[in-house]
Amino acid sequence: MDKGQAELRKFARQRGADLLGIASLDRFAELKPEKHPCSIFPEAKSVIVLGRRITRGTLRGVEEGTHFQAYDLFGYNWLDNRFVALTTFEVVEFLEDNGWEAVPLPALPPQIPPLGVPVRKGQPAPNVLLDLQDAAVRAGLGEIGYCGVLLTPQFGPRQRLQIILTDAELEPDPLFEGLLCDRCLECVKSCPLGAMSTEGEKAINICGRQMVVASIDFNKCRNCRNGARPNAYHPAGEPDRLAALCLRSCLDHLERTAKLTTAFQQAFRKRPVWAVDETGRRVQVPEEEN
Ligand code: SF4
Ligand code: SF4
Repeated sequence: MDKGQAELRKFARQRGADLLGIASLDRFAELKPEKHPCSIFPEAKSVIVLGRRITRGTLRGVEEGTHFQAYDLFGYNWLDNRFVALTTFEVVEFLEDNGWEAVPLPALPPQIPPLGVPVRKGQPAPNVLLDLQDAAVRAGLGEIGYCGVLLTPQFGPRQRLQIILTDAELEPDPLFEGLLCDRCLECVKSCPLGAMSTEGEKAINICGRQMVVASIDFNKCRNCRNGARPNAYHPAGEPDRLAALCLRSCLDHLERTAKLTTAFQQAFRKRPVWAVDETGRRVQVPEEEN
């Protein structure tokens, strides 16, 4: 690169990136062609995962049960489609201004089925879709918590991510070696629909890091009225749970146990938890005196 990697980071930060991790391609070696970055850009040398925070106040109205639209716009819809996309696009421009090709990848869910046929022998069918959370771990941004969602040391579960593939050979970031998820099970216990369970939990291994994830019935999450939203891109994708009770409980736990580097003057959860069933009727939160 004409300009150094430090300048790339500085530029991304100035354009709003709260998170930026870089993975080299060897960290994706075991992935199938259907999920591999080089199926999209065979000359890629680096995978950049960048993200912006969901501001904590964006979750406030959901936590209080009084206002959901702020999250709909500033945490869910615009944050990804406008704010993160703009940061991604400007970093792509920065790379291409320096002579490197850069492929921006939106946060499409990897559950979307193939949309065509392979156009060359030995090539996977379109669309090849990367798993964002998986890529974020490979890029050193954090770990997958028991809740099944990426947790970062800065923000816990509250961020949105996108990916850039580039033929610029960048120095990879170290893998995250901390431990955020302490298996407190607050995410499991707080779910009013019983969608998360320790039975059937599965172990995942990304770049040698072992993580255990609860079994999650996403069909229940699709009917959840406790802050969950449909997948923003495709009905086959996992529903968006970042504002749902399970993950707000996780955020509160991570903050209370001082696991995160971002600190606030007041606790996130200040009042008894509210919960409704799939019909919208108010219910008792399991193991909470509400
Ligand atoms: S999204 Fe709703 S149903 Fe799904 S785990 Fe979270 S609280 Fe439970
Ligand atoms: S609530 Fe507890 S068990 Fe669940 S992901 Fe967060 S830290 Fe892990």
